[in-house]
Amino acid sequence: MTANGYAMIAQVRFRELKTRIGLAAFIAVTTWFLTHTVWPAVWFGAVVATQALDWIAFGPLRRQPEVAPSTAYKAVLCATASINVIVYSAIAAYLWTAGGDAGRLFAIIQVAGGLLHVSLHMHHVRPLLFAAVVPHSLYFLGMPIVGAIVDGKPQEMLIAVGGVLYMMHLIVAVRQSSMTTKALQAANAEALAEREKAEIASAAKSEFLAVISHEIRTPMNAVISAANLLRRTRLDREQREHVSMLLDGGDVLVSLLNDVLDLSKIEAGKMQLESSVMDLREKLGSLGRLWEPKAAANGVRLKIEIDPGVPDCVRTDPLRLQQMLFNLLSNAVKFTDDGSITVSVDWRAEDRRLIMAVSDTGVGIPADRLARIFDSFEQVDAGTTRKYGGTGLGLAISRRLAEIMGGRLTAESVVGEGSTFVLSLPMEPVAKPAAETRRRSVQQAGLEGKVILAADDHAVNRRILSLLLEPHGCEIILVENGAEAVEAAKSQRFDAILMDMQMPVMDGLEASAQIRAGGLNRKTPLIALTANAMDVHRAAWDATGVHAFLTKPIDPVLLAATLAEACAQPVEDEAARVA
Ligand code: ADP
Repeated sequence: MTANGYAMIAQVRFRELKTRIGLAAFIAVTTWFLTHTVWPAVWFGAVVATQALDWIAFGPLRRQPEVAPSTAYKAVLCATASINVIVYSAIAAYLWTAGGDAGRLFAIIQVAGGLLHVSLHMHHVRPLLFAAVVPHSLYFLGMPIVGAIVDGKPQEMLIAVGGVLYMMHLIVAVRQSSMTTKALQAANAEALAEREKAEIASAAKSEFLAVISHEIRTPMNAVISAANLLRRTRLDREQREHVSMLLDGGDVLVSLLNDVLDLSKIEAGKMQLESSVMDLREKLGSLGRLWEPKAAANGVRLKIEIDPGVPDCVRTDPLRLQQMLFNLLSNAVKFTDDGSITVSVDWRAEDRRLIMAVSDTGVGIPADRLARIFDSFEQVDAGTTRKYGGTGLGLAISRRLAEIMGGRLTAESVVGEGSTFVLSLPMEPVAKPAAETRRRSVQQAGLEGKVILAADDHAVNRRILSLLLEPHGCEIILVENGAEAVEAAKSQRFDAILMDMQMPVMDGLEASAQIRAGGLNRKTPLIALTANAMDVHRAAWDATGVHAFLTKPIDPVLLAATLAEACAQPVEDEAARVA
């Protein structure tokens, strides 16, 4: 504390320098009025000189407050403080002798004020405190005592006695203030240490959750894929039911893992956002197509209303935007038994914000629960999980994602009437890319006879890929890492390449870049397989020209559809190839 205390005093002295000089000027003028001599001017000059000395002496400490002063330096600082007080209060001694009654009163009050000031601002560094207090006290008590003796006015000794009483009060006040300061500093230090501990514990928890959920996903991938394969075999009714239970349970577990992973990454501050161009109307259209049948199954109408002022294309993180809208729509569908769900999309040009409101005519949320639904693992009532499923993480993740993206997610609701969730996100409107407007007609085809290269370091995953794809009549060449994929791509032309991201020897991104650099497969459609949609460093893959991303556990239908679409060349490209 003491080493730090010197630095603190250095800062305070510097801050107060102008005030001290201003005050000295005022005292000098007052003294001149009372005495009409040259001494106040001389004194003022001396004050300015000693303040300059003070400024120079405390300079190194001001510039490097973290460096503890040496003993010699501390002695210099104390001597400077003493000299300062001696010179500053010298005017009081002069006024005491030459200023008459008013001068004496002025002098004693000024020294008392000075004593109070140094006691309060230097009390945490004892040597400095003594260096300043001792000369002050000498003036304070010395003036009336010397006066009483020299002038032969013993009654003036009473002023000295009053001075002693004043100093005793001062000592009590300073001790009290010192104790309060120390208690406050201890409490602050404790709070800081506790906060650091809590932050470390929270980061460790998030890290642990992220690692665990990531690690559980790989075996879950195998379990779900194996259950998918099992479902295609000849099963009796009971076995089919058991496999369905396996798949349903697996789906719930994977979505919970994804949510926990997302939340722990957000909390650890490791959520990375991507930025790419997204066709808003197309994205909203596909979300509508996805949710319409589910809403209709409950007798609920889903409407999507897009204001004409909404730009066609924007630059944003499409994956995250989709995740938030998906969550809001899934809730709206889940909690609406009849009526309608409306997604209205507006553009606020003044601050370039997309305002998306998802309104439903569902069960609604009581006012006292409305703020809580955005907390992790919060549901309106405990029966929600039993009745509707879910974990209470979706809105917590969505709100934090919105905030990370610079936006907001808010809710309004009336029980029994419905709820409205409003997502507002800043985005940059961009011109529709030329390639987008010229909608490419894709020739739909199956996988029959296609040759596909698949790179994955896990033997189980390779087996699953071949079990899933071979029934479609395609030939699948399996390799174990990126380097082998590059080798294979040199000697044979493939119809599509499936590339895992994380592999030993050479990862998927590097291998894809090398394949794209030249050779037989430089234009072959590449599909990236990711263990986690969040790990996709979209920009890097986009630069490689990846055709699509598939998240593990692999959905067999989506895999086949994506591959078929990738293998089917756009008509004009096909023509070019034939020519
Ligand atoms: P989950 O849906 O997995 O339970 P969420 O975080 O998405 O988790 O939602 C938290 C809770 O908020 C839900 O369990 C539900 O009680 C309430 N809620 C969310 N959306 C709606 C809605 N549209 N209508 C009524 N209640 C809702």
